[in-house]
Amino acid sequence: MKRRDLLKGLTVLPLAGGILSGQSASGSILPTGATATAAKRDLFKELGVRTFINARATLTMMTGSLMQDEVLEAIKNSSRRYCMLDELQDKVGAKIAELCHAEAATVTSGAFSAIMLGTAGVLSGLDSKKAAMIPHLEGSGMKTEVILQKGHNIGYYQAMKNCGVTMVWVETREELERAINDKTAMMAFMNCNTNAGQIKHQEWLEVAKRRNIPTLIDIAADVPPIENFWKFNDMGFDLVCLSGGKAIRGPQSSGVLMGKKDLIAAARLSASPRGSTIGRGHKVNKEEILGLYVAIENFINTGEQEWNFWMKQIAHIENAVKNIKSVKTRVFVPELANSTPNLEISWDPAVIPFSGKQIQERLSQGEPGIELNAGKNNISLVTFIMVPGEEKIVASRIKEELSKA
Ligand SMILES: *Cc1c(COP(=O)(O)O)cnc(C)c1O
Repeated sequence: MKRRDLLKGLTVLPLAGGILSGQSASGSILPTGATATAAKRDLFKELGVRTFINARATLTMMTGSLMQDEVLEAIKNSSRRYCMLDELQDKVGAKIAELCHAEAATVTSGAFSAIMLGTAGVLSGLDSKKAAMIPHLEGSGMKTEVILQKGHNIGYYQAMKNCGVTMVWVETREELERAINDKTAMMAFMNCNTNAGQIKHQEWLEVAKRRNIPTLIDIAADVPPIENFWKFNDMGFDLVCLSGGKAIRGPQSSGVLMGKKDLIAAARLSASPRGSTIGRGHKVNKEEILGLYVAIENFINTGEQEWNFWMKQIAHIENAVKNIKSVKTRVFVPELANSTPNLEISWDPAVIPFSGKQIQERLSQGEPGIELNAGKNNISLVTFIMVPGEEKIVASRIKEELSKA
């Protein structure tokens, strides 16, 4: 509750005075006046960059999600001092690992980076000379193939290919058994596409363990539910990759690689600050590492409350539109990935002669702009990445547009 009130304060924006003057007293190198002036600048406005209410999704192109107050505070406070990056990764990694039932963890620059570094770790093992050779695997003694199910092709497997491996695509259990050979480095699994593949988690793991092949699972957007923080570590995946900048609302460019101790140590041989490695460009700084840590802690502690709050926001929007002639509403929660409450609003085109796209466009171009999803005669939205209170604006704008019929 307290946090939500704080967040509400944030939206109104003259937070500048209160929070920032406290901050500068605690060691800013800028004079108070300068800090306050800087905070008052509306850089989006200054630059003419359009901002909007995000009722659509945690899309990278739309800058993902908004960090919580606690995260912003962690970033601001930690930005005033130096520390050794590896020591911070060790200590934060140990905490995240404990929260997620993993042996070890490390903060990465997104789930993509977690997949890439995890793959690099599997290839190099604890040999830093090998790590420095990636992605040139030929003649290195490293294995060269990663197996994935055809239905799990979601594009992000590029993160594995960056390491120079060849993807081997299988469909059936038989094909999987046949595909495994001396060159097999890893068997990967894309959780959000579970239903598009014949082989499910347990069977995938069973084959991998019997044939002694390391496994990696991408669960980038699959928290909530909160149990997913630890479910796949408990299940026995060797490496688990999570995005920090989706529903967790850590820094948008953060993620977690967690799993077996040796593999995490191996992955870090390819990570910043080590310079001549494939992962040097996947830099995460102390602020992002600590910001993500706080975001995960927060999410685990307040997840249930958040869920109830999202449902209230959804109900508010639903109530605003449900009496418009021919309008039907449906609340649903996707089974895998971004499993948060969604609201679909549909109508009879004979009564309301607008397409979903038209409504979407009008909302996008309105003031303030609102981004959401559109179907033929429907729109759909989520509330979990809104600033609390924005659901009221969304409700009245949708009502206004649909009532124009
Ligand atoms: C978003 C996403 C990623 C990439 O996550 P980042 O944190 O943006 O790098 C990878 N895999 C899946 C399934 C995703 O949804």
